[in-house]
Amino acid sequence: MNSFAAQFREQSLRLTRDLRHRLLIQTALGKYETQRDQRKAAFQDWQSAREAAAEIRWDASNHLDTQLRDFVSRIEARGTIVHWASTAAQARDIILGIVRDNKARSIIKSKAMTAEEIHLNDALEKAGFEVVESDLGEFIVQLRHEPPYHIVFPAMHLTRGEISELFTRELGSAPTSSPEELTMIARRALRKKYLTADVGITGANFAIAETGMISITENEGNARLTAALPKVMISLLGIEKILPRLADLALFLPMPAGAGQALTCYNSLYGGPRQPGESDGPEQFHVVLLDNRRTELLADAEQRDALHCIRCGACLNVCPIFRNVGGHTYGTTYSGPIGSVITPHLRGLQDWKHLSSASSLCGACTEACPVKIDLHHHLLQNRRNSVAQKPARLEKLAYKLFAFVINRPWLYALAKKFARVCQPLHALVKGKRIDPAYGWTQSRDLPNLAPQSFKEWWKERK
Ligand code: SF4
Repeated sequence: MNSFAAQFREQSLRLTRDLRHRLLIQTALGKYETQRDQRKAAFQDWQSAREAAAEIRWDASNHLDTQLRDFVSRIEARGTIVHWASTAAQARDIILGIVRDNKARSIIKSKAMTAEEIHLNDALEKAGFEVVESDLGEFIVQLRHEPPYHIVFPAMHLTRGEISELFTRELGSAPTSSPEELTMIARRALRKKYLTADVGITGANFAIAETGMISITENEGNARLTAALPKVMISLLGIEKILPRLADLALFLPMPAGAGQALTCYNSLYGGPRQPGESDGPEQFHVVLLDNRRTELLADAEQRDALHCIRCGACLNVCPIFRNVGGHTYGTTYSGPIGSVITPHLRGLQDWKHLSSASSLCGACTEACPVKIDLHHHLLQNRRNSVAQKPARLEKLAYKLFAFVINRPWLYALAKKFARVCQPLHALVKGKRIDPAYGWTQSRDLPNLAPQSFKEWWKERK
């Protein structure tokens, strides 16, 4: 077992038994669950909306080369500088270069999972820059030196009391249990940072090929301030974020309803730096387009649709595994079902194949996904691919032996008798390290065989 798998196993065993943690997550997600059907009902026909969204995403990914070319030529025409980054390291270097060229000292940042993916904050801080997260949830987890817990709700694992204690310790504020007061404390701390930041870094929800614009949706207005106040704006986005037409936003902006979220309060489009005659906006606008193995996934005809993800979080919210082990256990930027599907592609199949096995294959994720990504089948395909790449010889042998025994009724009956004899002996070591079935019995039950099989019972009754 590699170290990532061992860590996942250790964390998930611990957190599954932690009833307080489970209650916290299920209470937080329960709120969205109750609102989900109501929000989906705002669509005339939710299933048709999903079909339409999936078709648009297929159209975009099947023509990604031309869509990207259109997006780049149109956004460049308004003075935006576009950078292509093949790897995470290249993206970090590009952003560090822009920050250094502008002799920046402080940076304000809005929520961007791509920035988490390339570990941008670490790189900027190591190079001596101050980076402040402006999204409330991200601000909280940054103060705790933690990664986001969920792709949409970064601090959902924390109670008001824990956030209040954190603010008292880090910001010197008075303790409070009022969410409004906690928000105001963060707001006061952040306002100063917006005004002094030299560079603003954002992600993007979509890139519109037809108009050469990026679309950012948010609920706090922090991304708007991040984009509008500093002199330099940098947007980091994956190449898969393309939507063909501006009109497609009418369908995509409300799609997170499938995760129980209301339409976001602030939906902004950015098409370039400040134009002559305009009174606000950045003087420089850089767009960094990140590949980081996305083109490899694009080349995989079977799983290409994993790139259609709009990061709404619906699949995490309904996943029985996520709801029990929580977001940090995955040890990846993208957690839950979508994380388990794409992480092996982005970071190596053999190191991350264990995530594809951490699934009950119930299909709730596929059912919830607003763009109809076939998530649970992709988990199965990852399992198949990992075995094809590196055969599990012992497991194969065990199944061969099982097939050999079960195909010979006399041998099967003998094996059952043998197992019944061994049961009392096994009870002596059950749950101890010397138990040959220790790996199994640590987290699962191994019930005793019935004293009599159905066949024996039938025979006895003639
Ligand atoms: S895979 Fe689907 S449900 Fe999961 S985050 Fe992406 S779009 Fe949402």
